[in-house]
Amino acid sequence: MSKKGLQTNSLAGWLGIQTPIIISGPCSAETEHQTVTTAMQLKALNRVHLLRAGIWKPRTRPGQFEGAGEAGLAWLMAAKRETGIPVTTEVATAAHVEACLKAGVDVLWVGARTTVNPFSVQEIADALQGVDIPVMVKNPVNPDLELWIGALERLNRAGIRTLAAIHRGFSSFDKGPFRNAPMWDFAIELKTRFPELEIICDPSHICGNRELLPFVAQKALDLDMAGIMLESHITPDQAWSDAKQQITPAAFGKMLDALIVRKAEVVSKEFRDTLTILREQIDQLDDDIMGKMSARMKISEQIGHYKRDNNVTILQVNRWDEILNTRLAQGNAMGLSQDFVTDLLKLIHYESIQVQQRVMNDKVEKAV
Ligand code: PEP
Ligand code: MN
Repeated sequence: MSKKGLQTNSLAGWLGIQTPIIISGPCSAETEHQTVTTAMQLKALNRVHLLRAGIWKPRTRPGQFEGAGEAGLAWLMAAKRETGIPVTTEVATAAHVEACLKAGVDVLWVGARTTVNPFSVQEIADALQGVDIPVMVKNPVNPDLELWIGALERLNRAGIRTLAAIHRGFSSFDKGPFRNAPMWDFAIELKTRFPELEIICDPSHICGNRELLPFVAQKALDLDMAGIMLESHITPDQAWSDAKQQITPAAFGKMLDALIVRKAEVVSKEFRDTLTILREQIDQLDDDIMGKMSARMKISEQIGHYKRDNNVTILQVNRWDEILNTRLAQGNAMGLSQDFVTDLLKLIHYESIQVQQRVMNDKVEKAV
């Protein structure tokens, strides 16, 4: 039982396991073979608690693969028969809910594009009135905590007790390296308000690529999240949806081997939450610095073209002295040490010269 209106039971308890809850499977069920083979390879890892596969796919643009529909449900149930692992899929309408209940799907999830719409969430909640099935609610695509909580409340009021939240990142103009900005503080705030609500992290939709998956998964565990949902596929590059972010079940196994499940008691939760907020700020500032550096180098390149076309030398000592003196004074006023500012400027200046040199060389090569 939790404070402020949510009465939830543990999904881990329902599954009969200890956290972290591990959920995996393809973004979409594409064929029976792909669904069942992925599930069997995941079964071999011996630590996947719930199999996922999208049957109805909400795609940004029409004309893409929109899911196998009800045929896919039969494949998901075949995967369950072969592996003995319970299964979950995304529902967005009352008709989806009915089809899933009829097929015997164990756990449902509400997708990010559905959580944003209270009409749709209510339709799902109404279809689930009086049904005892666990439901996981992804955060809405936009960073709005109340909307996320509102969806959980609607389901809770319909009688759904085994509820979990899935943190899959947020759509934002300034994403940095992620497909969906993690904005960890939203998950932390949700956990602070509902300490017993389990939050599962979905690194796949946060990252949008394979490279960052281990970092995001580790960060989720370090934040004491209750589990990980990660997309896996027998042949990720050939996936019909979200190919760039999927990995093979074997690669997922290796990733799980490398993850460290820390004990929550080692450092206080408050300490870790504060650290995360501070690191998030650092990440954001580093993104800004990278963006500015890139913009600065592009201007250097433009200057290079201009100098080349006017037959002017690259290095102009007066200009360098002027940059150094003004920036040193500015850095000093802003509390940055003289050594640091000098080293930083030298590095930037050196790279600018290289950029301009390449522009000049270009002309020489063309002339030859
Ligand atoms: C998915 O899990 O494949 C999916 C569609 O996710 P989201 O709702 O987070 O975009
Ligand atoms: Mn997906």
